[in-house]
Amino acid sequence: MKRFVDYSGEPYALWAILRSGASITVRCECGAAGSIRCDHDELVFICSKCMQKKVYEQQAIYRVSGNCNYCDRWFNEQLHDKRQYTQKIVNYPCPHCGTVQAMHVKKRFDCVYYNSAIREGRDPYFGLELYFLSSYRGKPVWALNREHLSYLLTYISADQRQRPTYAYTRTASYRIPRYMKEAKNREGIIKLLTRMQNQA
Ligand SMILES: [Zn+2]
Ligand SMILES: [Zn+2]
Repeated sequence: MKRFVDYSGEPYALWAILRSGASITVRCECGAAGSIRCDHDELVFICSKCMQKKVYEQQAIYRVSGNCNYCDRWFNEQLHDKRQYTQKIVNYPCPHCGTVQAMHVKKRFDCVYYNSAIREGRDPYFGLELYFLSSYRGKPVWALNREHLSYLLTYISADQRQRPTYAYTRTASYRIPRYMKEAKNREGIIKLLTRMQNQA
């Protein structure tokens, strides 16, 4: 009897992997495995075989932050008015007391967005196909990297899946599609994942 206690949180969400410094394994145009990772503030793709490198063109985020000069409370707000993006200083109302004051506009690049997701088996940044990608009865089965693949295998082959006792929200298996968790598909999915794991 294989028992597996799931992990708390979402360690295998796309953004979580990238934020942790790990990489996403994708297929380069040359056919070999390449990786996408956050390198300082840049999101880069590098192929280990042909050495191709691509840098993702990121959108800047503009913010104002600091202590209000009237109520002294701190705030950190994102600007959404495009006309303010090119200004050094904007008049901004404190979200706590409403006092309008001159604030410096801060520009920064956010390496990974929470809402970025895999679309049709491809990464949302460079549009490259995932390296660990297959289909089971017409439905996509994928892993973002080798560690994720190994997690899926452990989770799906466990006879008993348990939530961690301290989990108050989502657990790592939250993002696994239902058809991969169903008992009737279990053997097939395990076979498929094992084959993916054994590929070069
Ligand atoms: Zn390549
Ligand atoms: Zn204030």
